[in-house]
Formats: sequence, C-alpha cells, structure tokens
Amino acid sequence: MNKPDLIEVEDLAPAEVAELDLYQKREKIYTRKIEGFFQRVRLFTGWPLLAGYFLLPWLQWGDRPAVLFDLPERKFHIFFMTFWPQDFPLLAWLLIISAFALFTVTVFLGRVWCGYTCPQTVWTSIFMWVEQRVEGSRNQRMRLDKAPWSLAKAGKKFSKHFLWLAVAFFTGMTFVGYFYPVRELTLDILTLQVGAWGAAWTVFFTLATYINAGWMREQVCVFMCPYARFQSVMFDSDTLTVAYDKVRGEPRGARRRDADKSAEGLGDCISCQLCVQVCPTGIDIRDGLQYQCIGCALCVDACDSVMDKMGYEPGLIRYASERELGGEKTHWLRPRLIGYIVALLVMVTAFSWRIYNRVPLEFTVIRDRSQLYTEVAGGAIENVYTLQILNMDEEMHSYTLRLDGLDGAAIIGETELLLNAGEIRSLPLRVRAPREAFDRPSSAFEFVIESDDDSRLSDRAESRFLVPLESP
Ligand code: SF4
Ligand code: SF4
Repeated sequence: MNKPDLIEVEDLAPAEVAELDLYQKREKIYTRKIEGFFQRVRLFTGWPLLAGYFLLPWLQWGDRPAVLFDLPERKFHIFFMTFWPQDFPLLAWLLIISAFALFTVTVFLGRVWCGYTCPQTVWTSIFMWVEQRVEGSRNQRMRLDKAPWSLAKAGKKFSKHFLWLAVAFFTGMTFVGYFYPVRELTLDILTLQVGAWGAAWTVFFTLATYINAGWMREQVCVFMCPYARFQSVMFDSDTLTVAYDKVRGEPRGARRRDADKSAEGLGDCISCQLCVQVCPTGIDIRDGLQYQCIGCALCVDACDSVMDKMGYEPGLIRYASERELGGEKTHWLRPRLIGYIVALLVMVTAFSWRIYNRVPLEFTVIRDRSQLYTEVAGGAIENVYTLQILNMDEEMHSYTLRLDGLDGAAIIGETELLLNAGEIRSLPLRVRAPREAFDRPSSAFEFVIESDDDSRLSDRAESRFLVPLESP
C-alpha cells in the first residue's frame, strides 16, 4: 500500500495571522441613518411591543392592576387569572414553549427575533434615534466627538445623556411597575415616599437600560447574549438569513452611474460601504454570515437604496437561504421545521387545555405520624390528619368536606368551611370508624372537598386509615 506523501510544514502557505487583544478598547460605531421597507416593518413590530410594555402595568382589572407579579404576597396576577407558587410547573412549561417558539422561528427566518423584537435592539434603536436628533448625522457625530470641548459640545452631550436617562428612567420605573403597583409607585416617587426597595430597583433598572442601550449597544449582542452563540446550530441550508449575493455582486468596484458594468467586468456591488456604515454591529455582511449579525436588515435597505440609484435590481443583499444563494430552490417545508411546528402546536394545545381546566384550589392532607391510631370508647378507632386548603380564586367560597372509600367512617371536626380569596386554612381533624369495618390494618380512602357555590372547585386527596392488628 502506498503511503501518502508527507507534507513538510515549510510547504504550507503561510496563513494570515491576526493578533487579537482580548481586552482591546471598543471602537465606537457611528451608524448612518437609513430608511426603507424593513425599517418600516421594524416600526410596526417595535411600536406595539413598546406600547404594550409601557401601558400594561397601568391597566386595571377590578380593584387591582391587570398584570402584577406580587412577590411579597407570592401571587402573579395576569388579567382574570391569579397564579400561585403551586402553579410553578405552568411557568416552567410556558418558558419551554417560548424557547421552542424561538427555535421554530429561527429555523425558518434566522435571527428575526433579534432584529425586530429583542428589547436590546428596540431600546438601542430608540437611543440611536435620540442621538441622531441631538447630535446630527453620522458625519456630524464623528466631527463632534473629535472636536475639542466647547459649550456647544457640552450642551449637546448633556442633552443626549439627559434624554437617554429620561427614557431609561421610564423604562426602569415601568419594569418595577410589574412588581409594585405602578400607580402607587409613581405617586410614591413623585412625593419622595418610595421605599428603599422600590427606589433601589428603579435606579438599578434605569442604569441597566442606560448602560445597555446607550453605551454597550452591540457589545451586548456580540459578547453577552448566549443566543448569538448557539443560533448557528439551529440554522440549516434553507434558513432565511440576511446575505450578500456574491455571484451577483463580485467583482465589486466603484464606477460611474452610467458606466457599463459588463464592459468593465464588474458585478453589482459598487463598494460604496453604505451597508457597513448602517450596520449597528459594525460588520461587513459581504464577508459572509457572521455571529455578530442580528438580522436587522438595515444593510438590505441601504443596499436597495444604492441599487435603486444605480438602476440595478434590488436584493444584492437580501433575506436568502444558503440553498438559494447556491442557485437552488429553498425548501420551505422540511422535516425539521415540520417537526418543530408540530411539537409547538402540541405543547401550546396542552398548555391551553391545562390553563382552561385549571382549578384554583389547592388541597393536601398530612397524616399524623406521631400516633398511628387511637382506640376510643365503644371500640371505635380514630386517626388524626391535618388538611391544608388554599382558595386560589379571587372570590370567597364555601366548601364542604366528606370522605370517600371508608364505609361507616365520620369526620370529627369542621366539615363546612368559608374561605376568603387567597386564604390558606390549616385544619386538624379526626376520622372515626368502627373497628369491625376493617379486615386489614391499613385502608386507602380519599378526602373530598367541594365548593357549594362553584362546581369547578373540587379536589380529592388520598390518605390511609390505620387500625390495630387483630390479636392472634
Ligand atoms: S451597499 Fe450594496 S453596493 Fe454598497 S458596498 Fe454594500 S453591497 Fe456593495
Ligand atoms: S449585517 Fe446587516 S442585518 Fe446584520 S446586523 Fe449588520 S446591518 Fe443588520
């Protein structure tokens, strides 16, 4: 057998080696403002989300906020529903569904979540808009930063940071308003009566917004967001991503507007750099798919505007699959995507069914372990239990207790109960039964609780009744 030829290290072409300083200084990105189809789409997705975020805590549902995560009371109110710590599996389920929905959308449309709806993107866009209004266009901002300090420069910088802090403050206060009734919080802040926790969290979220959207911006997406790192695992060759059409664009090169590109041997890219100048993460999409790309399509709008001016077809940079760029047809419905969609539909249906049939009543029974049974006068046997009843509904209800599966037994204690909304009752009671009714030392039975005024509210809890062993 012939041995493969050994390749000497010296034979290898010297690779391009770039030195990277892991702690290098961030280069500030000055983005150019651009308008276009996808930016209008972003407005339509961003504004409803912003309006929802800022308005939801102000909506009332009866005498309480429609959405309130009341941590001291350990209750989560979401419109007509109130969730308790006992409902934690539902929350876990909801998070799993959200993650699955994200995977499904990512397989289909790439990082569309990042580009259009992620709070980091939406708030960074607001902060950039403020910056452009105060400091001007990209070139004006670059000149301003290079200029020596003057009263005019200080005024612009102060105005920008003041407005950023104002937006950040309303964002932070609204976020705290999901946990602390926002009407009370606003009044407490205005009258300087806000407690230490309310003030501390408002300051924390204000600073977090100001730093993330004002200063860190693309650094959050590039270095901090875990989603950016594992998104490529979810992509396949049919996933739509923002991509540069190399076949059409290369060889790139500057030219006059009326130049004959075929005669000059050029592709459609005129090397104007506009796609790089509008990119909020500062990358060049012509270098191929990169993890820094958040799929915001600013470069698509920028390039389309250039193509329009040049009289070329739009779409040199566009949403395209790897397959499409290779000249093949994109497979929209593929097994992986169908699998995700089916799994998502099953989970959403099961979750909705569970929510619809959720009984706002928690009922548990603990058997007294210190004493197995007591023999009472007349030959009867008694066992002791402690019942925990939690009325998770928002209204008061009356309940009746009974036994099921224990013939001849009776409850010695309270069997008619009235529980306020959200009340937890711990109820010690005894169950008495004649000894001769049992032919074995341990018998299973159930406590049953039923509401007298709401047929939905009923529950059962299993326990055991113990009797002494027969004498031989
Ligand atoms: S905007 Fe379009 S034409 Fe201009 S450099 Fe980018 S890809 Fe080329
Ligand atoms: S490359 Fe284009 S889509 Fe990606 S982040 Fe930059 S501007 Fe947005």
